[in-house]
Amino acid sequence: MASIGFIGLGNMGLPMIKNLIKAGHSLKTFDLSADAQESAKSEGAENGLSVADTAKGVDTIITMVPAGPHVKVVYLGDEGIISNAQDGTLLIDCSTIDVASAREVASVAASKGFEMVDAPVSGGVGGAEAGTLTFMVGGEKAAFDKAEPILDIMGGKIVHCGGAGNGEAVKICNNMMLAISMIGVSEAFALGRKLGLEDQTLFDVMGTSSGQCWSLNSYCPVPGPVLTSPANNDYKPGFAADMMLKDIKLSQTAANDMGMETPLGKLSEELYSKLSKNGGGELDFSAIFKLLNSEI
Ligand code: NAD
Repeated sequence: MASIGFIGLGNMGLPMIKNLIKAGHSLKTFDLSADAQESAKSEGAENGLSVADTAKGVDTIITMVPAGPHVKVVYLGDEGIISNAQDGTLLIDCSTIDVASAREVASVAASKGFEMVDAPVSGGVGGAEAGTLTFMVGGEKAAFDKAEPILDIMGGKIVHCGGAGNGEAVKICNNMMLAISMIGVSEAFALGRKLGLEDQTLFDVMGTSSGQCWSLNSYCPVPGPVLTSPANNDYKPGFAADMMLKDIKLSQTAANDMGMETPLGKLSEELYSKLSKNGGGELDFSAIFKLLNSEI
């Protein structure tokens, strides 16, 4: 059984450690929040005193913190993971962050002889609780092969996407596309209503025609057609609009870094920013329909 250091015990990290403990692994945890540390302790984890202390004496370290700057703080510097982990420790960052930061941290880790993968997830808190997350993994194949059995405990699908940063790259490309498709589906319903169409009629035709896609068929943004959609639950997330906005911003940072434009990605950022400013940031991201239908 592995000895795992886990840093970042938020909405995602806490359920992830529960599954690792259930599988018999020994967990040493750290979070800046004392409440989060207490919750981890009550699940059977040993609390580390700091990032540096948590990094010592374990064979694997997993991090699940908010964004690129947090990842740099926990990995780099004298008090960070790379300066304090023992030789041979496998490093796994599951946070969703910008590709450039992921590659920078992986490169420092490699220069000090550590194997590291970026392994952002999709599946949300429900997937973390059920142990059915999808992990998109970037890094050397040898590091992926070592990380896979551990990720498998927390996930249902583990995909090696190529070298360092490629897990993050896949995640942000997918979510940029998801934002765009959700906006497209929502616009069609908003226009359909203005033209006097019933939502169900439009759904029945589009859902079996060339317009079909996940945003329509599985996660329909209007109440009615798909019973499990957040639209049928007052747009409670699900996947919050502000989280989607974060991921679209990462896609725009990446596009900018690559010197290219993603016109629909850019427009998606504007629309999701507007939804957030209008008070819809904590609603599910499919509530973009409410914005496009002038309800919010
Ligand atoms: P969260 O804000 O609930 O938890 C992050 C935790 O990291 C907090 O408890 C915070 O105290 C801790 N933290 C921050 N800096 C730290 C430091 N220096 N040392 C120790 N702990 C530190 O966030 P979350 O919802 O758990 O998301 C984590 C990551 O997973 C994010 O990158 C997010 O984009 C991604 N993600 C979240 C979801 C979701 O549905 N929540 C889905 C997919 C991906």
